[in-house]
Amino acid sequence: MPELPEVETIRQYVEQHSAGKTIETVRLLLPRLVKNASPETLIRTLTGVTIENVSRKGKYLFLHVSGNTGLLIHLRMTGSLLYQEQYEPVRGEQIIFSLNEGCLIYRDIRTLGCLWLVPAQGATGISGYDTLGPDGNSPAFTEAYLRDALAKTKRSVKTFLLDQTRVAGLGNIYTDEALFHAHILPQRPCCQISPAECHQLYEAIGMVLNQGLRHGGTTIRNFINGSGKEGENQKFLCVYGREGLPCRTCGTVIAYTKLGGRGTHYCPHCQK
Ligand SMILES: [Zn+2]
Repeated sequence: MPELPEVETIRQYVEQHSAGKTIETVRLLLPRLVKNASPETLIRTLTGVTIENVSRKGKYLFLHVSGNTGLLIHLRMTGSLLYQEQYEPVRGEQIIFSLNEGCLIYRDIRTLGCLWLVPAQGATGISGYDTLGPDGNSPAFTEAYLRDALAKTKRSVKTFLLDQTRVAGLGNIYTDEALFHAHILPQRPCCQISPAECHQLYEAIGMVLNQGLRHGGTTIRNFINGSGKEGENQKFLCVYGREGLPCRTCGTVIAYTKLGGRGTHYCPHCQK
């Protein structure tokens, strides 16, 4: 599933290619992707509007358009957005927005993505979005915030970091990587993490997210950015997807376990 760096990579691409352009027609090939509006309402609402900009919070994209409406998108496993100067059918295309210049295609091979028509301002009524905590790379996510939030719970630190209401944007890949760089075992109860370890964790979260952004995201199976290119960050991962391989720091075999139902990778030597 695309996480903060992958969704942000798509956001920048979509905004660059579509901001200021007008949606002339909407073709919705798979109506069930739109969760809170009929196909007729979606098409009527978005036809003729201008795309103003694209924002992101956590793993959600928000297309701001003229008028009082926005289009909220969660890409889930394989959703992506593609811009074409001249429309050509692509595998997995589900929604085609013809613009006054080019077209924007929502494509999704496994069709697990979700789209909602939402008000441009204020609460959206979409609970997963409205309850998001601060973005892992935003000024609102401070070390003091992290320390206070960790102190309040006995949950494992990995489960905590995956909770989008606490920190938005981290998924399985960047959580495992951040815990490796912070030298903290993913199973550790949050309330037992010391202030010094919290500092390391805070720094590590920022570091892995920024590294992911710099490399255009991580491509393990499915992620491709809008222009169809794969990210580069998978070459820099230290633990995620490396079970059975030697740790890049100490040579110990990277371990794999399930934690809260999620595959979890760590170095049993470097992480305490
Ligand atoms: Zn190690």
